Amino acid sequence: MSTEPAPDTPYHALSREAVLARLGGSVAGGLSEAEAATRLARFGRNSIAAKQRLGALTVVLRQLRSPVVFLLGGAAVLALVFGEIGDAAAIAAILLLNALIGVFTEIKAARSIESLRALDTRSARVRRDGHERQVSAELLVPGDIVVLDAGDAVPADMRLLECSNLQVDESTLTGESVAVAKSAAPVPEAARLGDRHAMLFRGTALTRGLALGIVTGTGLATEIGKVSRLVAEAGAGSSPLERKLARLSAQLVWAVTALAVVLSGVGLLTGKDPLLMVEAAIALAVAAIPEGLPIVATLTLARGMWRMARQNALVEHLSAVETLGATTLILTDKTGTLTENRMAVRSYWPASGRQHDAGAGEPPSAADAAGLAALVEVAVLCNGAALDDARAEGAGDPMERALLRAGLEAGRSREALLQRFPLVRQVAFDTATRMMATVHAAGDAFRYAIKGAPEAVLQACSFDARDGATPLGAAGRAEWLRRVEAMAEAGLRVLACAERTDPRPDAAPYAGLTFLGLIGLEDPARSDVPQAIEACHRAGIRVVMVTGDHATTALSISRTIGLQVGEEGVAEGVDAAHLAAGIGALDRIGVFARVSPQEKLAIVRAFQSAGEIVAMTGDGVNDAPALRQADIGVAMGRRGTDVAREAAAMILLDDAFPTIVAAIREGRVIFGNIRRFAAYLLACNLSEVLVVGLAVLSSLPLPILPLQILYLNLITDVFPAFALALGEGEGNVLARPPRDPREPILGRPQWLRLLAQGLLMTAGVFLAMWASGGMGLSPDETVTVTFLTLAVTQLWQVFNMRAGASGILSNEITRNPWIWAALALCLALLALPPYIPPLAGVLGVVPPDAGMWALVLGLGALPMLAWQVAISISRKTRFRHDDLPLWK
Ligand code: ADP
Ligand code: MG
Repeated sequence: MSTEPAPDTPYHALSREAVLARLGGSVAGGLSEAEAATRLARFGRNSIAAKQRLGALTVVLRQLRSPVVFLLGGAAVLALVFGEIGDAAAIAAILLLNALIGVFTEIKAARSIESLRALDTRSARVRRDGHERQVSAELLVPGDIVVLDAGDAVPADMRLLECSNLQVDESTLTGESVAVAKSAAPVPEAARLGDRHAMLFRGTALTRGLALGIVTGTGLATEIGKVSRLVAEAGAGSSPLERKLARLSAQLVWAVTALAVVLSGVGLLTGKDPLLMVEAAIALAVAAIPEGLPIVATLTLARGMWRMARQNALVEHLSAVETLGATTLILTDKTGTLTENRMAVRSYWPASGRQHDAGAGEPPSAADAAGLAALVEVAVLCNGAALDDARAEGAGDPMERALLRAGLEAGRSREALLQRFPLVRQVAFDTATRMMATVHAAGDAFRYAIKGAPEAVLQACSFDARDGATPLGAAGRAEWLRRVEAMAEAGLRVLACAERTDPRPDAAPYAGLTFLGLIGLEDPARSDVPQAIEACHRAGIRVVMVTGDHATTALSISRTIGLQVGEEGVAEGVDAAHLAAGIGALDRIGVFARVSPQEKLAIVRAFQSAGEIVAMTGDGVNDAPALRQADIGVAMGRRGTDVAREAAAMILLDDAFPTIVAAIREGRVIFGNIRRFAAYLLACNLSEVLVVGLAVLSSLPLPILPLQILYLNLITDVFPAFALALGEGEGNVLARPPRDPREPILGRPQWLRLLAQGLLMTAGVFLAMWASGGMGLSPDETVTVTFLTLAVTQLWQVFNMRAGASGILSNEITRNPWIWAALALCLALLALPPYIPPLAGVLGVVPPDAGMWALVLGLGALPMLAWQVAISISRKTRFRHDDLPLWK
């Protein structure tokens, strides 16, 4: 019988020993750091996505496909046909410039989003140099020994060495949605991918259990890496907001084309010069289109994502930024989000005695001491934290570490206990059973150590430890549940411990147990949470706690953080009746306790059908469906599993509730800014359309020439609009109710408002034309005056974008330094051309004298002043909470 496998036998068909021999590592100690570095140089980084960047050519093509480009291109051709070579060349130049700016901003936005993604690095638990350490998943090499836990994404292809209770979701790879069980035994060489149970594949995720594996392939050498060479990883795609904006642009293009056709038709019928009509049509086309809109929108969103990241909220999709601003309800879990997650054991209640405060009080009696020791021993044995986690900060589950620390104080170190009772099996904590178990060798038999939520553990117990054999009946359970209640009232998180001795190591763990007692852990509320909750209430956002913890504990915490919840506001489990009763019942509830992950999903759905926009936090594997269902799924950056992160739209890098509120604030500011600059651009362009259209209809000479309009748009569309996009928002963004998510970017009030402003600006231009006539100016001088008047009017117009409730002189526009910089720059760009001969020739302007400048500056300010007076008067009569209402 040959034991030597062929050198090309795949890993799944090899025995454990053969795999280890081929990859050259030791299970206990892993690779040495030096060897890992050598292999990293040889095999490269464990990454498959790096090369798939957005190509510049794709971006250029996308820019050129826009309707704006077609329309302007058409205008240029028309100009060429009619011999207006200068106009045609200038339009082409502007098209090019615009496309360049577009390409530049889009690439910049894409890169900045890429680097945001890099903030969300995955790490892996690896054995190296004899220690277990966290290493960036990119640095894994073949031969690394990796420890995986339920909820972890598999970071590389691996051969299993050991596993417990392991189930893996391989749908990303095989399309099979049912989780598969795995084992470390080799499988036939010809097994298909889905049947290679001895392997774990990159990109799949552990839904249950624990695994120890040795890396067999990294990066593009993984199964998924081979596939993804062909398919790029899901692209960012455009957000609904970007689509809404694109639609707006397209609609404008059609409206303008129609308008141009009608106007030139009317002009030709009334016997106007055809050349003038062509010029007017081109001018209209150029005037109406907000060339800068998509560019500024993309940059605003990308910058918004960065601002959120700096506040510890990592947004995964652009569209989340928009939805965040409309959030009406936050479903938040308790542990670590509302509380510090710095747990400490405060109280013991051993089965064989009275309650003890941890560390204090009179020493326990002898009988009590024995019971206490048994209780602590099980808590230390049945523990998911790694050995050195008790001392280390930040590693491992805080509750598990708290138990290890309490064990050390009681003279029970996990190390020593594990030497006496070696670990043979571990059943990971499961939110469905709310218990975890470990099995240890104890002489000829096996010692089962169990801890978990008291109701669950008590249900699994048959005996009371007071004398080891007394059966635990309904009365006994009820008595213990009353004690749990008493501890929970003090805000403690209560755990129960139990054990059993069994001749077999692989029996079902949660049956026939002996009850050992209760442990109460304290987890103080985060000090910044009450303020954030208060802010939510002011902002019209409801906060509801959804926790797996005991109702009384949850209620106690909810009171400390200022969630006003009455006794009837607590729903335990979600009895279906509550949800079926609908909104009436949901309205009252502030705390959902003892909730299972499936119930979380039902809760999200129920609130959504009641019309709420739901943000929901989650960290576990089982939370993924609820996170996906929520409008904004929020995963925890520290505590969260990879599976939860992948399902979420936003990741909290600090796991803290106030960060959600900060992100919602930012989302509102961003939406407000987008609305503001869109309204600004359209009001300005409307004024240009009206000026040209009215001039044609009334047989006046064009007050503003096509190239002037292009120049104007290039300046105002970019600088002031972008300055508006950089606004920090008013102080009161969180002091008004959430926006209706169905509300368009520009609704009726916004359209009416920009219509009124466009009319005012148009009136100013005709006033300037009329005054020029009065001053006896030449046609060239008149066009110079009307062009500059419109330009200055548009610059002043930014001040009309303030919210009505803000002060005339001190508001979010005047406080925005970018606005002042943009205005200064634009003024310079407008004042200089008349004095630079070639530019003046192309633009058709002449150097104005002092009188003309006075006219320009005076009339240019008039529409803005008129608007401000109108607002002040109307504010005395009406006041509405809205972003940009008609008369605010
Ligand atoms: P939370 O909403 O507070 O995060 P979980 O769903 O995580 O609640 O936990 C629910 C209950 O399960 C806890 O109150 C506790 O009793 C029990 N529990 C949580 N983690 C563990 C663990 N690692 N081992 C045993 N029991 C646990
Ligand atoms: Mg939890």
